[in-house]
Amino acid sequence: MESESLPRTHRDCPACGAASAASPLVRYQHPDWPMRRCSACELIYLEWVPEYGALYDEISWTRQHKKEELRRLKAMPILARLDMWTRWRLGLFGDATPAGGLNAWAKAGPVLDVGCSIGKGFDKLNEGRIPHGIEIDAKAAAMAQEKFGPRGGKVINSDGVGGLKQLPGKYFTGVTLWSYLEHEANPREALIETRRVLTKDGIALVKVPNFNCVNRMVLGKNWPGFRHPDHVQYFTPGTLGAMAKKAGFDVKFRLYGRIPTNDNMYAILKPAN
Ligand SMILES: [Zn+2]
Repeated sequence: MESESLPRTHRDCPACGAASAASPLVRYQHPDWPMRRCSACELIYLEWVPEYGALYDEISWTRQHKKEELRRLKAMPILARLDMWTRWRLGLFGDATPAGGLNAWAKAGPVLDVGCSIGKGFDKLNEGRIPHGIEIDAKAAAMAQEKFGPRGGKVINSDGVGGLKQLPGKYFTGVTLWSYLEHEANPREALIETRRVLTKDGIALVKVPNFNCVNRMVLGKNWPGFRHPDHVQYFTPGTLGAMAKKAGFDVKFRLYGRIPTNDNMYAILKPAN
């Protein structure tokens, strides 16, 4: 299916609501998917986003992503490979998985992975932390349920915000938004709902691509962080921090959590008093 025929929804700035027409286009945009930098708050976002049904039922994103990676390898072999190496090197900065962060910083109790896919991110969760998930893909959600169910948890088959809204307030000791917020058409609502479902001393861990990374500056439109249209906004440490603060969080970054040589950044959010 060609991307231009996908059913799509218009957005003004998903962070501050400023009109899209008032904000300049970003030069990395795909011709089918206009990208803007908000003139009020600087968030970079796609003006039109695919409707979730179309996104997940009609396109195989994994396949598309692989094809795109091959294209980049051919276009810029050395730089593209260096980038893959950079991503692999992530392992050197500690256990950068949803489970690793929650084992280190969340108290025992129910924990939630928003956009949990088949549940792998919680494989290494320590005793006492009960895995829950939200996943939009029905098959992946069923597979995650098979893993989480015997450990006392539950998986909701839904988009992120819709799933969060079904959950009780002040319930989870930890929530992971792991490679999720860049896909979410309503990222502000996702953060507000995350804040709502967390206990007072709970913690939310975020991993998103960092638009301010060196690879983006060097590779330009060939930066692997660009995936049109399944990444619908591109955060910098500044725009991510501002959105999380508005949603009621204190924001910190992990050690090495926003270094420009890493394509991704890692934030730690705690409910502000
Ligand atoms: Zn804005």
